[in-house]
Amino acid sequence: MATYTISVIGGDGIGPEVIAEARKALLAVGERCGHAFVFREYLAGGAAIDATGVPLPEDTVRGVKDSQALLFGAIGGPRWENLPHHLKPEAGLLRLRRELDAWANLRPAIVFDELVEASTLKPEVVRGTDILVVRELTGGIYFGTPRGISGEGAERRGFNTEVYSEREVERIVRLACTLARARRRQVCSVDKANVLESSQLWREVATRVAREFPDVRLTHMYVDNAAMQLIRAPRQFDVVVTNNMFGDILSDEASQLTGSIGMLASASIGGPVGFFEPIHGSAPDIAGQGIANPLATIATAALLLRHGLRLEAEAQLVERAIRAVLAEGLRTRDIAQPGCAVVGTREMGDAVAAKIRSLP
Ligand code: NAD
Repeated sequence: MATYTISVIGGDGIGPEVIAEARKALLAVGERCGHAFVFREYLAGGAAIDATGVPLPEDTVRGVKDSQALLFGAIGGPRWENLPHHLKPEAGLLRLRRELDAWANLRPAIVFDELVEASTLKPEVVRGTDILVVRELTGGIYFGTPRGISGEGAERRGFNTEVYSEREVERIVRLACTLARARRRQVCSVDKANVLESSQLWREVATRVAREFPDVRLTHMYVDNAAMQLIRAPRQFDVVVTNNMFGDILSDEASQLTGSIGMLASASIGGPVGFFEPIHGSAPDIAGQGIANPLATIATAALLLRHGLRLEAEAQLVERAIRAVLAEGLRTRDIAQPGCAVVGTREMGDAVAAKIRSLP
């Protein structure tokens, strides 16, 4: 029996609620496939601030680095919003990403046939959408220096720096092209090369890297057009590769194609330990009510199996289980049609775990 050590950070708000359901799914996979998953819990975000005074305690960093993959819920909430920047929950998350050198964020946005009505867009527009957004995660304007606020009065200025090296662009585009090979072999690189020098470099390097992949078709699109095309004709996209900030925005937009942010998983990879989290936040408005959709986090567990532990068949088993419960009509509130019966977080998690055990 193979043993895998997974570090787990529930975090704040609905984080611990949805993580509990993802753990159930992994345990069911373990039972069925003969793996032992050992979970080690750590603190981060608001929960860590309350317990230790800092958003990312050192033993969290050490413990996570010593595991094979990190399953992460969500952090943050109104209670910690007014702390100084370096003590905010988000500062802990950004540092953890940097510590793990997780430079690539993968965000699949898949419109399941069963949920085609849940999208705010017309079914004929979103049906069949299957996009993988590959976002650069450790560079660009979120980390570039100089940054800050300086000056006085009307001349006071806030400033950040968008900066990319060739090496950073090369590795993310190479990853996008590699992932495209297991899909429809199309990569759309999104930039703002008509205005930004950093994007001009991005485009030049992307074009060069793509020559290593003659079987993959690379196209380029300006980010403003991409934002429009995503909701106009989303099926035109297969893999989208882009920088940190554009990826942040476009992947949230892509999430809405699917109907609910509660359905979308993400994987942050590239370093020695992969970081797997749903794309939603801690949803303080519904925390503690047992109504959060756990499917994003369960789908995140599937990505953990695929990209973190290289257990492809097990990842597919989890994804088939999610589809099976949706096909049977189970819905949490966020993906239910008006008037339709809804289940809570725990019922949905139990149903997926049962499917993992029973699917042929
Ligand atoms: P959010 O994603 O937490 O919530 C946005 C909306 O989506 C809310 O109405 C919420 O109820 C709903 N929602 C989110 N997840 C859901 C789920 N699983 N099931 C059903 N509904 C769901 O975003 P927000 O409200 O902008 O942020 C809330 C807090 O989360 C903030 O403190 C923010 O900083 C933090 N946040 C953390 C992360 C992270 O940990 N990676 C990401 C985004 C936001």
